[in-house]
Amino acid sequence: MELKICHLYPDVLNLYGDGGNIRCLTQRLNWRGIGVEVTKMPIGSKESLTGFDLIFIGGGQDFEQQVLLEDLHRGRDKELVAAIEDGVCVLAICGGYQMLGAYYETHDGKRCDFVGALDLWTVGAKKRMIGNYMYKVPEELGGFTVVGFENHSGQTRLGPGVKPLGQVLAGFGNNGEDGTEGAVYKNVFGTYSHGPLLPKNPDFADLLIRRALERKYGAAELTPLDDAAELLAHDEMCRRLGKR
Ligand code: GLN
Repeated sequence: MELKICHLYPDVLNLYGDGGNIRCLTQRLNWRGIGVEVTKMPIGSKESLTGFDLIFIGGGQDFEQQVLLEDLHRGRDKELVAAIEDGVCVLAICGGYQMLGAYYETHDGKRCDFVGALDLWTVGAKKRMIGNYMYKVPEELGGFTVVGFENHSGQTRLGPGVKPLGQVLAGFGNNGEDGTEGAVYKNVFGTYSHGPLLPKNPDFADLLIRRALERKYGAAELTPLDDAAELLAHDEMCRRLGKR
């Protein structure tokens, strides 16, 4: 068994250790004896986006999001829609999450037309939403809590075509108003969680691995790992946020 992972736009979308999510996935696959191949696809790459089992997109500030627009609309946008509709697993963080939606209008009025793969849109507010935060995913995704770090001015609103990834327990989430965090559509998971997210949320890492393996091989039995250190980090952040 082997998973092919694409790190899309690592040159511009990679904040607060987002790339650590790939290292976490790679390590958890290695520990289980499952092969993994990681391909970095920066701006200007001519490689096709087809054939990957999991696509990772990190976060970036407004500037970087504008820098990548030209490359995105040279065909990456259509490839992303096709991959997502085909059930490829995607983890997208903050600026990368916003990029999968319809558009982002910055707080000073610049509009970035994005991929439109997910039924959501983002509008920048004057106030930034910054800090450690926490949310709970619905039972059908495992019912676990996720801890992360958010830093965005964009307020994301979800349309009926997506479901929230979680309900906020502490912090802001999508917009600081409706209690939702992130979005789920097919095998796509969008979230504001930097951190990196996966090392301290091993349930989330395994959810992605399981979805990718199930799609590729029809079934996935994941050998349990010793997550004592990972859960210690997770639980300590819950404690700091007053939730444990
Ligand atoms: N530029 C976006 C915002 O501020 C995303 C920031 C980020 O990825 N941290 O909303």
